[in-house]
Amino acid sequence: MRTPLIAGNWKMNGSRASVKELLNGVVAGITEVKRAAVAVCVPYIYIPEVASRLQGTPVAWGAQNVSTESKGAYTGEIAAAMLMDFGCRYVIVGHSERRTLYAETDAGVAKKYGMVTAAGMTPIFCLGETLEERERGVTEQVVTRQLKAVIDMHGVKALQVGVIAYEPVWAIGTGKTATPQQAQAVHAYIRGRIAEYDKTVAAAVLIQYGGSMNAQNAEELLAMPDIDGGLIGGASLKADDFLTICKAANR
Ligand code: PEP
Repeated sequence: MRTPLIAGNWKMNGSRASVKELLNGVVAGITEVKRAAVAVCVPYIYIPEVASRLQGTPVAWGAQNVSTESKGAYTGEIAAAMLMDFGCRYVIVGHSERRTLYAETDAGVAKKYGMVTAAGMTPIFCLGETLEERERGVTEQVVTRQLKAVIDMHGVKALQVGVIAYEPVWAIGTGKTATPQQAQAVHAYIRGRIAEYDKTVAAAVLIQYGGSMNAQNAEELLAMPDIDGGLIGGASLKADDFLTICKAANR
């Protein structure tokens, strides 16, 4: 039985005051979350504050990116060991905004995946097709290519210590959610591809859905057999909405 993971991706949002308020709200309602594991992936600069607020609560914390390198002359970068030093459990790698806006490649994402696992944390590995790719009918080829980059670099067993987030790019931040059936089809496809390498890994790996999941649509998405939680952008910025999504996994 896979325990779903609901992770908030705050992206580049927040202030010290709003972070405090949001965390207070999430922690206040967390005892009503019965089944899902819960985490927030926050801007680097708030990690120390988030860590001290969430220490001792059931809510884990993490980052949204990491360097491909371990240390040295990489101005502006943050190493995996630094995130571990602040108690991060999760690090998002390969988010589509980073792939698109910062030209991250499959190989670069795979390298980051390895940095995160080597430091003892869990990568939340994002993959998904653009609208143009979906319309061209190449969704399966795209997610296979993205998945293979990690498997080729680290072996299929590396997926055992990570979480996959299927995020159709056309659904991220657009309010346009994949239907539960559309999402389920790709999740099942991804699990099937992994099973070709290793059935045990395929059965155990968490595959989250991400893309305009919200308080209204979470329950039906999370009810699908291969959807093991969600990576939540916009709706993770409001404690009530985020908690409603977390509680939707109770059923
Ligand atoms: C995301 O940023 O990973 C995401 C899914 O965003 P949103 O929920 O806002 O679509």
